[in-house]
Amino acid sequence: MADKIRIATAPLAGCFGCHMSLLDIDERLLDLIEVAEFDCSPLNDFKRVGSADIGLIEGGVANTENVETLRDFRRHCRILVAVGACAVNGGIPAMRNQFDLRDCLEESYVNGIGVENPMIPNDPEIPLLLDKVHPIHEVVKIDYFLPGCPPSADSIWTFLTELIEGRPVSFPYTQIHYD
Ligand code: SF4
Repeated sequence: MADKIRIATAPLAGCFGCHMSLLDIDERLLDLIEVAEFDCSPLNDFKRVGSADIGLIEGGVANTENVETLRDFRRHCRILVAVGACAVNGGIPAMRNQFDLRDCLEESYVNGIGVENPMIPNDPEIPLLLDKVHPIHEVVKIDYFLPGCPPSADSIWTFLTELIEGRPVSFPYTQIHYD
């Protein structure tokens, strides 16, 4: 059998909903692993991307660790895909962009309801927050955008199978309307 396609996935600033949607392809996962194997992913808990044909990125870019992970994926993935609204346009995490970062931190850690021992965390182990949350195409070049919050399991399946089989990616209407 020919070498399998290698797929890597990463969650940046998101909610893991897009990864859950990938798992929602259910029994089709068995078909997927006939032709593909996973490089680093929360699904197998491998932490660093090795070399992959397809990199799937969930979430926006909210901190310095996200920037590092995203650049690492760009270096090691032949095709990089923005999966879901947060990766495509910043999504829910970008709602903080209308506020000053300092105000967000003070609301969370100093002035918020129920806060005890008010103190903004300042530990070198905690990645520094960026002033704004960015869609991933503002940081690295992206080859495909798969919108939705999350993209449905069916649209993820269509996308992956067409890409793996080398066909132009084309969705039926039922997979690309959001009303
Ligand atoms: Fe979660 Fe939606 Fe963002 Fe995906 S696009 S990470 S489901 S909020």
